[in-house]
Amino acid sequence: MNIPYSEPYKIKMVEQIHKSSAKERQKWLKEANYNLFKLRSKQVFIDLLTDSGTGAMSDKQWAAIMEGDESYAGSDSFFRLKEMVRSLTGFEYFLPTHQGRAAENVLFSALIKEGDIIPGNAHFDTTKGHIEFRKAEALDCTVREAFDPDIINDFKGNLDLQKLENALKDNYKKVPFIIVTITCNTTGGQPVSIENMKAVHKLAKKYSTKVIFDSARFAENAYFIKTREEAWKDKSIKEIVREMYKYADGMTMSSKKDGLVNIGGFMAFNDKDIYEKASVFNIMFEGFLTYGGMAGRDMNALAQGLDEASEFTYLESRIKQVAYLGERLSSYGIPLLKPYGGHAIFVNATEFLPHIPREEFPAQSLAIELYLEAGIRGVELGAIMADRDPVSRKNRFPELELVRLAIPRRTYSQNHMDVVAAALKNIYERRDKIRRGVKIVKEAPILRHFTVDLERL
Ligand SMILES: *Cc1c(COP(=O)(O)O)cnc(C)c1O
Repeated sequence: MNIPYSEPYKIKMVEQIHKSSAKERQKWLKEANYNLFKLRSKQVFIDLLTDSGTGAMSDKQWAAIMEGDESYAGSDSFFRLKEMVRSLTGFEYFLPTHQGRAAENVLFSALIKEGDIIPGNAHFDTTKGHIEFRKAEALDCTVREAFDPDIINDFKGNLDLQKLENALKDNYKKVPFIIVTITCNTTGGQPVSIENMKAVHKLAKKYSTKVIFDSARFAENAYFIKTREEAWKDKSIKEIVREMYKYADGMTMSSKKDGLVNIGGFMAFNDKDIYEKASVFNIMFEGFLTYGGMAGRDMNALAQGLDEASEFTYLESRIKQVAYLGERLSSYGIPLLKPYGGHAIFVNATEFLPHIPREEFPAQSLAIELYLEAGIRGVELGAIMADRDPVSRKNRFPELELVRLAIPRRTYSQNHMDVVAAALKNIYERRDKIRRGVKIVKEAPILRHFTVDLERL
């Protein structure tokens, strides 16, 4: 018998989670106006809302926390983190921020002006928000296959080079940089290949623009390169990471994902000029250059986390746990986005609940059902998250209407995955009885999904 994969760690500390009754959940969700972001965490049994900042730290990270240097300027923790980032990515210039979107805010303040175009692969929601907030355009250049949930393709995060070149040809003066999101969360945690990174970088140079990697899940992306891109199968994850960043001029990163910490972020670059421009905004928005919104102890924990996240044995157990959930759900016939992503399983809500029209938000409706069924919290990635068009103010209906089940790192067991699979199976079996969705009663002008109030129809 083959020895199966398993977690390369054991448990040292546990945290109680709370079961609830169906009646309690009905009441709580109504009080939350059917917005799962408004639930209290104690009202949730298995929380798959996000993999952001929800992972478990290691004993070595906790030890590093005790050694944090809290000096305002020149802290040792800053240099420890800067050195880790340099050794992983090769970037010489580094600025810490309090989280990923803060890095976007700082960098985009330095680089984007009104009327600019930022091509990329299905920009992350806060990235798009920060671009549109500056009256610039986030132009999607993801490969076509990414929007067909049934096409199995190894690198559905890739950019469509023709689409990208067309955009650059016509407007290259308005493109301060191209943003490549690794892995591409918005299309299902799908990776970008080294080959594609190389080609994007080449196009950027041809049209005298830059490439920035939005790097929240850089290590998961590297795992997929190792396991799917022939030329890289014998390289270590760290070697692959180093190779990836050869094709970028800079990066932003939310450390709350592959950084294996609960809060934090940073930017890094080759270019001194960008660094100097960004430094001004970093001091204004985040803090002095050697802490930028992070405590010294947090920078220490992040340095250690980046090292652990870029190890193959960890990544293998992580990504195989996600695939395990995907396999269970598939075996029940539940329609999923394929191939399975690195950090999450994405349920295709329009296929799961075909009676609910797009205007009644089928993905949100399914997320509501899942919470009511078993206290499991997923998140809508559909028309509510897509916001209104900034000009016409009409609802935007993205090609895919998904419920994302994001798996926190090193947090839940295989038994938890079985509970999630069983709950979705129950809903799937009674799906014909679910015929109405929700309507919006109150919403914010941008990033509305976080605070929207809904009513069940
Ligand atoms: C999480 C994330 C961000 C934003 O980072 P925060 O730490 O949540 O502010 C940006 N881009 C991607 C791809 C992300 O996953």
